[in-house]
Amino acid sequence: MELWQQMVRDSVHSVDQIVERFGIERKTAEDLDEFFQARINPYYLSLIRYPGDPIWLQCVPDKKELEDIGAEEDPLMEDAMSPVPNITHRYPDRALFLVTSQCGLYCRFCTRKRKVGDYDKISMKGLESAFRYLEQHTEIRDVILSGGDPLMLTDIMLEKILQRIRAIPHIEIIRIGSKMPCVLPHRITEHLCDMIKKYHPVYLNTHFNHPWEITPESSKACQMLADAGIPVGNQMVLMKNVNDDPATVKELMQKLLKIRVRPYYMYMADETKGANHFRTSIETGIEIIENLRGHTSGLAIPHFVIDAPGGGGKIPLLPNYVLHKDEDKIVLRNFKNKIYSYKNYHDRNNPEKVNLKPDDGKNGKQKIKAIKATKVKLPRMIKIKD
Ligand code: SF4
Repeated sequence: MELWQQMVRDSVHSVDQIVERFGIERKTAEDLDEFFQARINPYYLSLIRYPGDPIWLQCVPDKKELEDIGAEEDPLMEDAMSPVPNITHRYPDRALFLVTSQCGLYCRFCTRKRKVGDYDKISMKGLESAFRYLEQHTEIRDVILSGGDPLMLTDIMLEKILQRIRAIPHIEIIRIGSKMPCVLPHRITEHLCDMIKKYHPVYLNTHFNHPWEITPESSKACQMLADAGIPVGNQMVLMKNVNDDPATVKELMQKLLKIRVRPYYMYMADETKGANHFRTSIETGIEIIENLRGHTSGLAIPHFVIDAPGGGGKIPLLPNYVLHKDEDKIVLRNFKNKIYSYKNYHDRNNPEKVNLKPDDGKNGKQKIKAIKATKVKLPRMIKIKD
């Protein structure tokens, strides 16, 4: 057994352990266990500095989870968009492929609790029909392995999956979604990296939420992946009392870049059953991005997105930098709130650029009119002189 497997085995997980270690009342601990089991491996446990700190909040069961009964179990409608077991096909050229129900840590905010924990929540029997779906759908050029955490599979099992996907000619990119570099970095071994790099291009998206998760161990794991030519991106979830302030996020993003991890997304927390207490306001997220843009390297700025409920996909949110727009110019503010006017260049009189056809006649004029009408209302306090 490898070290990381031993650490999974040594995790805090039983009701007795939860009661004893975290002082949770037994009946509550039993109810929480029923709702979503705990798994806190010794590495992640060692990162807790005091009760209720940002690490604790992410992994220790909390009775607030039981008070939140209204939210959805599958807010992103992944199951409804699943044409065959283990596959979610939401976007035209990408597919999500769930390969295990196991994780190195069970995150209390998890949006996929319905699929995570018990072995039978994601069936390995579904793999064959999933491979066949990927083979038949030639529009899919990007496959995202997820679960659970794909790096909970053994190297042998993971290699079988990578081999099989790589044999499908239209699949160009393989992505692995794994929290292991953050929560159990011992999983990133030389053997694993050597195996994965045979199947390039392979990308890995991981999931750091707080600067305390950047340790010598997690830094080493991310750098090993980068050295194996596996670009590593980070998907942070914005969570109350974990990372919902600009200074914490800035520190995290800057530290990620130092260990060669590219900040990729910052998500609003999904409206998931049992995780409502982690949600924070959209304004908080906007303020965080406002405090990054211009104040630190553009490389350190993730896309701030809402994964739209009902399966609408990721929708980006930005602070409002556009103060006015008309057919001739755009008026913008920069990160210091200084205002700049930028002259537009447009092709409204060039029939080719507005897709006019020779027989468009009246319609052509309407098309040009529509292009000219792209105006945004001017905020009251700002007056622009021509
Ligand atoms: S690692 Fe991912 S899938 Fe597993 S519990 Fe955490 S958030 Fe959920």
